Amino acid sequence: MDGTRVREWEARCVEEQAPACAASCPVHVDARAMLAHLAQGRFRQAYEVYARAIPLPSIISHLCHHPCESACLRAQAGDPLRIHLLERACVAFGRTDIPLRTQRPSKRGRVAIVGAGISGLTAAIDLYTKGHDVTVFEAAAALLPRLCLLGEQTLPAAVIEADLARVRESRMALRLSETVDLARLDGLLADFDAIYLAPGNGPRPDLAGWLDLDDKQRPIVDPLTFATSHPAVFAGGRLRHGDDGAPILSVHDGRYAALSIDRALQGASLTANRDNQGAYASRLYVDTSRHPAAPALPPDIGDAYGAEQAQKEAARCFPCHCLECVRVCPYLEHYGSHPKRYIREIYNNDSIVMGQHKSNRMVDSCMLCGLCAAVCPNQVSMADVCLEARQSMVDKGKMPPSHHEFALRDMAFSQGEAFALLRHQPGRRQSRYLFFPGCQLSASAPQHVLQIYAHLCATLEGGVGLMLGCCGAPARWAGREDLFAANLENLRAQWASFDQPRLITACSTCLRAFKDLDAAPAVESLWTVLEREGLPPRAASAPPVSDYAIHDPCTARQETAVQDSVRRLLDRLGVAHHELGAPGLGTCCGFGGLASFVNPEVADKVVDRRADEDPADYLAYCAMCRDNFARRGKRAVHLLDLIFGAAADPAERADPGFSRRQENRARLKTELLRDLWQEATPTRAARPDLSIADDVRADLERKWILEEDVRQVVRHAENGGARLIDPDSGHVIASYRPAAITYWVEYAIEDGRCVVYRGYSHRMEVGDTP
Ligand code: SF4
Ligand code: SF4
Ligand code: SF4
Repeated sequence: MDGTRVREWEARCVEEQAPACAASCPVHVDARAMLAHLAQGRFRQAYEVYARAIPLPSIISHLCHHPCESACLRAQAGDPLRIHLLERACVAFGRTDIPLRTQRPSKRGRVAIVGAGISGLTAAIDLYTKGHDVTVFEAAAALLPRLCLLGEQTLPAAVIEADLARVRESRMALRLSETVDLARLDGLLADFDAIYLAPGNGPRPDLAGWLDLDDKQRPIVDPLTFATSHPAVFAGGRLRHGDDGAPILSVHDGRYAALSIDRALQGASLTANRDNQGAYASRLYVDTSRHPAAPALPPDIGDAYGAEQAQKEAARCFPCHCLECVRVCPYLEHYGSHPKRYIREIYNNDSIVMGQHKSNRMVDSCMLCGLCAAVCPNQVSMADVCLEARQSMVDKGKMPPSHHEFALRDMAFSQGEAFALLRHQPGRRQSRYLFFPGCQLSASAPQHVLQIYAHLCATLEGGVGLMLGCCGAPARWAGREDLFAANLENLRAQWASFDQPRLITACSTCLRAFKDLDAAPAVESLWTVLEREGLPPRAASAPPVSDYAIHDPCTARQETAVQDSVRRLLDRLGVAHHELGAPGLGTCCGFGGLASFVNPEVADKVVDRRADEDPADYLAYCAMCRDNFARRGKRAVHLLDLIFGAAADPAERADPGFSRRQENRARLKTELLRDLWQEATPTRAARPDLSIADDVRADLERKWILEEDVRQVVRHAENGGARLIDPDSGHVIASYRPAAITYWVEYAIEDGRCVVYRGYSHRMEVGDTP
């Protein structure tokens, strides 16, 4: 896969962006995670989330001016979450007084902190817990001297004490009543590896001549790293912000200065990976309109929340996520994460040379329907990702052969002698039009192909040729771009040999395949042709049997003209219809991308979710969609069922299954040649008559074993091939390996018919028995 393109795809998915609340917090308190715990009554876990970002949690929960609340998107559907009161509730009901723990850094340093205000103590706690030797110098006789002056009303002494207890109990050296002047600074530099200057409003050392200063005589500080002009000296807090600096900005400076000091002591880059440091605007997309409005809950114990009320208020958090694509796609939902992760995983899967490619099945389970891109605010298309990954798997020889073999064999059948055909309209030598019904309509309802072709011949001037075959979509979906291109080139050559007539396709997948060709032929959908040229005479009498919900195939998502024509044709037929969700934003029928051959569980989830959207009968204009709904028990008709009105209840038509699909194609060709062109039809090899019970037939279908595969085994065994006899039942057990797959069948010849009891297949080669 192309690494640059993969990174570009990854960057477009915003799901891992922080929610607005966390992004707007200078130290990125993960309010979303904290509120999720709170809403469930997990106060201790909620507190731990908060305390991870805030080293002085009791104090800051009282003093923070909560910029997160101004950014909270709940404001668009009610009121913003009262995050600051909920943080206080975390502290009140979840606080754990675990002593400060220390790590073992690879290089331990000695750090002097000048000033025991919020910024200085934040840096001190962070550096201490990272394992450094920390000494705090404070000119006053107490830690946090200025906070003590705020008064009980604003900041109770017990709140301050709750945070300071851990500091006092630690092994930090606390040197109170020690003023650090310029002469002392030189001494500190001899004794310490780094200094953080955060004197707050306390006495400031005269730094002139020692550091580069601004016009207010404050050190010039790099706003990202807090480095000064001296490599071992960092500065922040009120020294940087002045008296306007909010407490949370002091926390911010202390935290990120500590990060720089630690990196400097480890010899690491001060500037790497600091893109989202401090408050920023999140790019996370959130559709707030899907949430009903909910006003904020008032505090119920004075100006604070009790535990129960805090839980309720926290539960108002949406929480903020994008996940627009995951919401609409059962495949994305099935794997439990989101595209940014999937893209990374798929790229890693593609990049490994040795070892297991664990994501192959996931790559091959996408329907390639493009709905994700249609609903994504940044048009991230998992279809593009998975298609490129499949092509790469094929190129590297890593595509599991079993994934697409059946579909590719089916495609080869449609392009082979049994089905492929090219003829001018009977009695003509030229074709102004060329009708390409596609392999699936021919497989599902061959009578409709005969009928609609007759109508086109009768309606259109200049001759309507007929081309039977497959557009090659299965090859593209299987990552076989070589096969896809060769197949289309073959079809293009046939089209060109007829003097480039205007192509008419009955299937939107074929329409897209032809349109995607370089120098595409003039091609149009059958439905726009019928709207313009008129419906067959019988159509007017086709009775409306239901108010149909229209299912647009995913391959017609961009084809608004086709979608509109279908609706107008239904109006003309007098058939009541309504939309199934937003037009063009429907889920796949489950057949796209060949996912059903790789992951039937996911494919069935997809079709079932679509089928459950509306209790009405569905109207499809893709044969495969119609049959897939029928396979899962959803009543569905094809537009041609209504146009020709053949059956009393067309929604009862069963899915023909894969064996009958091939039979239908072959029979269609035979009948066309015989009846329209009066040509001899290809003779088929003698075919043993099979008798297959319904449950055995369903089992064979589930295992992708065609009746023709069964016939080959029986023919081979009855013509002298190896066979075993089960002594108990007398049944014959025989196998045959036409290509890469070995088929086994258990059967018996009874009254001249071959009764099939069981079938299975595998990819192992069975050697000769000694
Ligand atoms: S819709 Fe999906 S792919 Fe697009 S940004 Fe959202 S989560 Fe990411
Ligand atoms: S709704 Fe929740 S996650 Fe979203 S911004 Fe508000 S607090 Fe944060
Ligand atoms: S199945 Fe469709 S909506 Fe889901 S990821 Fe694949 S292309 Fe996107």
